[in-house]
Amino acid sequence: MKTKLISSLVFFAFSGSQAVHATAVTDAMIENDAKSGKEILTYGMGTQGQRYSPLTQVNTKTVSKLVPAWSFSFGGEKQRGQESQPLIHDGKMFVTGSYSRIYALDARTGAKLWKYEHRLPEGIMPCCDVVNRGAALYDNLVIFGTLDAQLVALDQKTGEVVWKEKIDDYAAGYSNTAAPLIAKGLLLTGVSGGEFGVVGRVEARDPKTGKMIWMRPTVEGHMGYKYDKDGKKTEIGISGTTNKTWPGELWKTGGASTWLGGTYDQSTGLAYFGTGNPSPWNSHLRPGDNLFSSSTVALDVLTGEIKWHYQTTPHDGWDYDGVNEFITYQQNGKTLGGKADRNGFFYVIDAKNGKLENAFPFVKKITWATGIDLKTGRPNFVAANRPGDPTKGADGAKGNTVFSAPSFLGGKNQMPMAYSPKTNLFYVPANEWGMEIWNEPVSYKKGAAYLGAGFTIRTINDDYIGALRAMGPVTGKIVWENKNVAPLWGGVMTTAGDLVFYGTPEGYLKAVDAKTGKEMWKFQTGSGVVAPPVTWMDGDTQYVSVVSGWGGAVPLWGGDVAKKVNYLEQGGSVWVFKLSSK
Ligand code: CA
Repeated sequence: MKTKLISSLVFFAFSGSQAVHATAVTDAMIENDAKSGKEILTYGMGTQGQRYSPLTQVNTKTVSKLVPAWSFSFGGEKQRGQESQPLIHDGKMFVTGSYSRIYALDARTGAKLWKYEHRLPEGIMPCCDVVNRGAALYDNLVIFGTLDAQLVALDQKTGEVVWKEKIDDYAAGYSNTAAPLIAKGLLLTGVSGGEFGVVGRVEARDPKTGKMIWMRPTVEGHMGYKYDKDGKKTEIGISGTTNKTWPGELWKTGGASTWLGGTYDQSTGLAYFGTGNPSPWNSHLRPGDNLFSSSTVALDVLTGEIKWHYQTTPHDGWDYDGVNEFITYQQNGKTLGGKADRNGFFYVIDAKNGKLENAFPFVKKITWATGIDLKTGRPNFVAANRPGDPTKGADGAKGNTVFSAPSFLGGKNQMPMAYSPKTNLFYVPANEWGMEIWNEPVSYKKGAAYLGAGFTIRTINDDYIGALRAMGPVTGKIVWENKNVAPLWGGVMTTAGDLVFYGTPEGYLKAVDAKTGKEMWKFQTGSGVVAPPVTWMDGDTQYVSVVSGWGGAVPLWGGDVAKKVNYLEQGGSVWVFKLSSK
């Protein structure tokens, strides 16, 4: 009798706490996401994108006792690259998979609560595998972008579609793979498709309804708009000045896609979006700097106005893009942003006004420029190392081939780095590789690849391509590095437990000492890791998680490197770890 009473009381307490936890995600919760560390409400573990957790239960002394708690398979035949970062809220994990799928799981047990599988049309054109990088949470919704350029908002509890909006025409090459960003109650998203001559932009929507608020193109000459509650649009001015840095007509299909999404800093009120290559790749067809391609653009979240821009690769001729995440942090009373660009240089920029504070290489071989002039903020180009003009080639069909490093797959690509305010170091998943690249004639055709270039990716070193590097933003020095045979393609996380977590294509999730890089723990996930790890606290237990599933751009475009790593198997699962109680 007594036992029965106690167990029913326990049951009541348990179900009661579940009900209390059913909280709508608010702006205040999102703004506090990085500090609390308890849940994971945002891509980047905070809108600044630092990927730093204040949690300490798992630390340099305890991490050796980290064991799997559960694993969940995304199922089906649709494996391919899994670049997704899970979100955690109300005891649930929300995780996206390849082919525009999203799952809600019990975060303690891994039991499936619901799945949404987006119906994709024939003829989608994702350039670089059928990936998705994660969702956004707002109110009672979980929102993610799809490969056919739509946004879908689902009820967190049931998985039912609450709203669905088309971003643009997938048949023109538009797609969406980035996690949306919530800032000041707005849903901010970009577009993918720079290899098809799309027009890059940032859009703000009401996250509860999906209705447009404003749209700001990231290509000079295109008009921005704001929208009233009935969807009627009003012009809010052209981006830049038409033809100022982009003479002729090619800006009309100018690329500069915002395919990796953005970050947001509360202290500046600005959202930071990276922009991809100007289209087409053949730079001789489009003289000028070609704003706002291969840049960071800082936007006023409420108006969509471009407050400042910093172009990392003016007149990009190598597909260096400039999409990499801009992570803001505090230093000597200033809000700065760190960005490890695909072009091989690391930039430290004043997040308020866009002034360049520091720039240094984070990879060992860079051929296209000798450095960045800190006074002018411009690269010192090596003219001979720009791929040649096909019209000046012997037969007019192919320009001079040059060897370029980094390759267009970048000193760093989509995999996000982490910043620790504790060590004041950035942890950069870098790659050392090059490419042979040449230009060809090309003209725009809707829905066709718009490169005007050919390439072969080459290795530089026999023993490694990837290197996780701890870098000081003031000194520009590599404090430590861990080399990796395969190219690193997953993201990084650092914690107040003095650890850095990262995954490898060889299948390992690793934890290393944040100060020295010494390997403390590793686990084989069964497929390559190309996604960023996360950590959260549930009750008295700290969990660590990462998605596993080899794929992304390397197997598709990697040339010699793809051949070198073609033994790696595909997958599709999420792993969760906690400390063993033994
Ligand atoms: Ca590109």
